[in-house]
Amino acid sequence: GMGGASPAIKPIGKSVVHRICSGQVIFDLSSAVKELVENSLDAGATTVEVGLKAYGEEWFKVADNGSGISPGNFQALALKHHTSKISDFSDLNSVVTFGFRGEALSSLCALGKLTVETRTKDELVGTHLEFEHSGVVISERKIARQVGTTVTIEKLFSTLPVRGKEFSRNIRKEYGKVISLLHAYALIAKGVRLLCTNTVGKNSKMVVVKTQGSSSLKDNIITVFGLNTFKCLEPFNLALSEGCQVEGFLSKPGPGTGRNSGDRQFFYVNGRPVDMPKVTKLVNELYRSSNSRQYPVAVLNFCIPTTSYDVNVAPDKRKIFFSSEHTILLSLREAIENLYSPQQCSFSINHIEDPEKVNHTEDPVKEDDPMIDEPIKSTYLMDKENVSSPENDNCKEDTDSDDQDPLKDQKVSSSATRAATGAASRDMSPLPRSPDTEVDRSPWFSALRYEQPKRPRADFKNNPVRENNVRTGLAAQSSPSTIVQSSLMNFLSLNKRKHEDSCNLITEAPVLRRGTCSGAEKRYMLRASEKNKFRSKCTWYFRCQLTSAN
Ligand code: ADP
Ligand code: MG
Repeated sequence: GMGGASPAIKPIGKSVVHRICSGQVIFDLSSAVKELVENSLDAGATTVEVGLKAYGEEWFKVADNGSGISPGNFQALALKHHTSKISDFSDLNSVVTFGFRGEALSSLCALGKLTVETRTKDELVGTHLEFEHSGVVISERKIARQVGTTVTIEKLFSTLPVRGKEFSRNIRKEYGKVISLLHAYALIAKGVRLLCTNTVGKNSKMVVVKTQGSSSLKDNIITVFGLNTFKCLEPFNLALSEGCQVEGFLSKPGPGTGRNSGDRQFFYVNGRPVDMPKVTKLVNELYRSSNSRQYPVAVLNFCIPTTSYDVNVAPDKRKIFFSSEHTILLSLREAIENLYSPQQCSFSINHIEDPEKVNHTEDPVKEDDPMIDEPIKSTYLMDKENVSSPENDNCKEDTDSDDQDPLKDQKVSSSATRAATGAASRDMSPLPRSPDTEVDRSPWFSALRYEQPKRPRADFKNNPVRENNVRTGLAAQSSPSTIVQSSLMNFLSLNKRKHEDSCNLITEAPVLRRGTCSGAEKRYMLRASEKNKFRSKCTWYFRCQLTSAN
């Protein structure tokens, strides 16, 4: 027991520390792929191609047509806490990139074999770089390639024996999580073509996710899940207060609109995919009152000013919780309850309305996405194709069962259409650093950035939508808008994954946010967007009819 001198306290070797910590940033295949996809999006890519070999067990790579990496940044690329995205703590106020911690590449490098191929617009040829686990460049040679970057990781977790074994054992499950993750980005990414292929053994490449770079959430939903799924959805717009809102789509009420599992529920904060277990639970619970046998489809984006929340809590920036979530959930509950409560008689409404028709009337241009028929200019990862859609196959009662599989019979157009992003490769240096470097906001993010509601406030006065909501009891005066607002502003914080133990203190202590929304709306209301105004009018009209018929 306690006999004898206690062992001497010595520092752990640097490389051991690095390996231990890396396993917390990258803890499974999907977190690894997520980091690479986010780097591509941060680099302004309009084409992102994910390639998996043996479901990712052998290797995986992400190729993009983004800005590329300047030669001056090669040595620092895979070093811990080296980033081109922020230089000072105050930059965290306005982070609009997915990454900013400078941990992903260094962690991936510690956990597998990292290779990078890259070229900026200023270089005539590309460079192939190999790294050792410490993050140091071990080889560098010139290659032919287009502007952009390809990052490859071979044998993930081979440096962590236990995790490595577990990884191989669960590879199919890990792969499923990757697909679901890519769906999350595919839905929210506007103007980005996303492609994922998997190659098993000597078989040819299978396309498992493919999008067209559509410019709206609606079009993305149709591309990823098919038109029939979209037809079962209802736009959801909840204004929590000025500058804070929830927007997206939820399954319509009624039988047959949902899924046999909750596999299509996606939540975002300003376009960043996050886990929201409580919101998930709420949505599922309320949907049950309208359809007891299924789970709803949900795609909800929480739009909140970037100055008012902090994403720097967890290495994976994925888990969000609302500390004062009670009031936020209450508002959500009220709005969703209204959608799913049995007395809404929405089955008849669904019958009467033809969402496609309405959409045509409102926004005829949206239907033809000019990007879809763009000519194919080059190929990144793909040479041969074979299309499958694993996730559509396992749901027999799926509302999609009659859907034309969006992937079937399609030519793989792994187009690398160049977008003149002009985003030059950024300077990369260790943190912290002199605060004179400008943070380049990628075009991807300007698209995601929250836009102030365009309709002036006075317009609400005679807005039939609002009238509708008032009458249907949605805009109850007692609604805790201001409370909700401050909850969002003050307590929105990110949680870290449970199995990461190193930051429990942070996890347990809610992170207080700076800033408040100016001119907060005193009420909150379910606010349909311009596009849906007509629809809502119809709904209101039919609801009236149904009510008066009783
Ligand atoms: P972070 O994204 O937090 O900055 P990473 O380790 O993910 O840290 O990446 C380190 C740096 O490498 C980034 O800041 C960026 O400058 C560069 N980088 C990584 N991936 C790409 C890419 N696909 N295209 C361009 N630059 C990249
Ligand atoms: Mg990153």
